Amino acid sequence: MGKMFFVDLTRCTACRGCQIACKQWKNLPAEKTRNSGSHQNPPDLSAQTIRLVRFKETADKDGKVGWNFFPEQCRHCLTPVCVDVADMAVPGAMLRDEETGAVLATEKTATLSPEDVKAVSEACPYNIPRHDAASGRIVKCDMCIDRVREGLAPACVTSCPTGCMNFGDEEEIRELARKRLEEVQKDCPGAVLGDTDLVRVIYLFKDAPAEYYDYAVADASRTMLARAGQTRPARNVSRRDLFQRVLRG
Ligand code: SF4
Ligand code: SF4
Repeated sequence: MGKMFFVDLTRCTACRGCQIACKQWKNLPAEKTRNSGSHQNPPDLSAQTIRLVRFKETADKDGKVGWNFFPEQCRHCLTPVCVDVADMAVPGAMLRDEETGAVLATEKTATLSPEDVKAVSEACPYNIPRHDAASGRIVKCDMCIDRVREGLAPACVTSCPTGCMNFGDEEEIRELARKRLEEVQKDCPGAVLGDTDLVRVIYLFKDAPAEYYDYAVADASRTMLARAGQTRPARNVSRRDLFQRVLRG
């Protein structure tokens, strides 16, 4: 069954405790940033920031302004296309941990060619993998697999003061998400859970997911594989074939 996150966006205050806890546990440095016209900081994911609280301003039909906050991370997809694409170039470069379901980018990702790295990034329907120029590796959230194997929750979950971030066994988390959706829908009938059949990070959206972030939920038409005419590469499709389909696409 594995592990799952439930991210209750109705409870996120954008305190960024999770973003900092992630950096602290992973020994990731602060990075130079700039004001991009929003409180979002830094402006995007990077090799140094693998968890980012996104900010989006909203306005209702009466012009009343609000905020939607979206703490973003790898979704640890149930059938991770990044693993398939990386595997075609360097077997074992990325893998899915059998016990937890965590999707991991190994040190072998440093041996992927720039073309392969681009293919892995473009295959991800959530725009997650980033390339670390210093190590040559693909970098992304690994579910704090070292903590989870010792029975601890991921650092982001431990730091969250509002109950937005939750983590546990798949069955327990699915039940929590279902119950919380029912509660929230009493006041917000448009509330939805995102991509519950695809991922191990289930978000509860109060508004339409697009009101949070473009890549909040998967849009298959955006991915390289979709452009190649398939949602998941078969093991017997060579990388060369895949690229040829993309180029023809
Ligand atoms: S979100 Fe992207 S990087 Fe994470 S497991 Fe899914 S395809 Fe891979
Ligand atoms: S720690 Fe919790 S409340 Fe704070 S930004 Fe992260 S998810 Fe939101």
